Amino acid sequence: MDADALIGLTISEARALLDSRQVSAPELARAALERIGAVDGRVRAFVSVTEDLAMSQAKEADRRIAAGDAAPLTGVPMQLKDNMATRGVATTCSSRMLEGFVPPYDATVARRLYARGAVLVGKGNMDEFAMGSSTENSAFFPTRNPWDLARVPGGSSGGPAAAVAASECVYSLGSDTGGSIRQPAALCGAVGLKPTYGLVSRYGLVAFASSLDQIGPITRDVTDCAIVLSAIAGHDPNDSTSLNAPIPDYASGLDAAEDLSGLRIGVPREYFVDGMDAEVERSTRKSIAMLEDLGADVEEMSLPHTAYALAVYYILAPSECSANLARYDGVKYGFSALAADSMWEALERTRAEGFGPEVKRRIMLGTYALSAGYYDAFYLKAQRVRSIIRAEFQDAFRRFDAIVSATSPTTAFRLGEKTADPVQMYLSDVLTLPANIAGIPGMSVPAGLSQDGLPIGFQILADALAEPTMLRIARAFERASGWEGKTPPI
Ligand code: GLN
Repeated sequence: MDADALIGLTISEARALLDSRQVSAPELARAALERIGAVDGRVRAFVSVTEDLAMSQAKEADRRIAAGDAAPLTGVPMQLKDNMATRGVATTCSSRMLEGFVPPYDATVARRLYARGAVLVGKGNMDEFAMGSSTENSAFFPTRNPWDLARVPGGSSGGPAAAVAASECVYSLGSDTGGSIRQPAALCGAVGLKPTYGLVSRYGLVAFASSLDQIGPITRDVTDCAIVLSAIAGHDPNDSTSLNAPIPDYASGLDAAEDLSGLRIGVPREYFVDGMDAEVERSTRKSIAMLEDLGADVEEMSLPHTAYALAVYYILAPSECSANLARYDGVKYGFSALAADSMWEALERTRAEGFGPEVKRRIMLGTYALSAGYYDAFYLKAQRVRSIIRAEFQDAFRRFDAIVSATSPTTAFRLGEKTADPVQMYLSDVLTLPANIAGIPGMSVPAGLSQDGLPIGFQILADALAEPTMLRIARAFERASGWEGKTPPI
């Protein structure tokens, strides 16, 4: 098998090749490693490539396949975002602070995938500690969008989205605190799903904002997304926020999803924000019409507190991050500044040198918002508005099965275009972060290409634990959109 055979390959297609013995798991792993060798110098989606681990996992996968014991993901090459702990493999969060940090344990998601015979080919680049929307905040190097190398892949899971789009692996896992799975998936023409808060264990995910963080799949199509979600979802006693809900097989019956009649879909007026690209708006309206053609009952509606979501997020996420990142003191993990005269100086220098500018900005914002004199005015108030936003969604889901919008107000922007103005960058997430605030699931599905040949994503939101409905709409939409199989010219 040569590396080009990996281009556009889905999990289902890889499964068929492996099960019919047309290709062995080590051959498939080798092809993925060759593909990484051929394109990653330009895309830079990987922080590390785990060749030895991949080859040994592939050999093990082959034994399982030969024994007739293959699970849907057995022998399929994948990547993990570099904020998920992997035993024996460096986990850096694309930060100097964790450079060289090798965890002594696996994140639950890694453990679950390994138990199903997955093959890890490497770790994905990201904005440092998952703070950003372009992957330009990686302390190591920016990742580039495979559809146009002068543009960003989005973020913070830019490495995972770009790696999937460039066919350097078949699927990847990202994390989404305010849009970090869905926005890069949209900008790279991939499918990305943020599950209901608590559906996927966060054990071993380096914490950014614990009340918002969720892990989820980035894949080439909706069926693959359902397959990966089925593998990673489920209760975990190691995560106190993990839900104890029954996990269906999300992929089963998806192909029957053709007709959407009987489904009520809301289109919130507020999600056509100022500054939205005209092409994104056109595409979104066309996508909505497509759902109507599929039989859904589509209705314009209002989520009036949407305008406050960005402000709430940028109080709560930095506050939680300032607490979570207090643990990087130069003693416990990774980087440590040497030659300091006192403990305080060592601590100060470690944090001054180990964190990049965006992480420092967030820690300072959060520390300020939590400080004694300002706690009520900022943090507490933001919590109250969070409750209102959550209630607004709950109310909407009494009337609607799903809510749809664009995923990102713009297509992929140029490297450097938004780095000078943090608020411009923050606005990339205005359509995605309400789902994190409310704890509901959301996904992005490719809707088409702009005139410049850049992907546009369509977002579907559903009620807590309504992933099956969301996936059904996504699958029907995917089929109608005519996107299936599109890959970037790289
Ligand atoms: N871009 C948002 C931020 O910078 C969201 C990041 C994320 O979801 N991890 O905080």
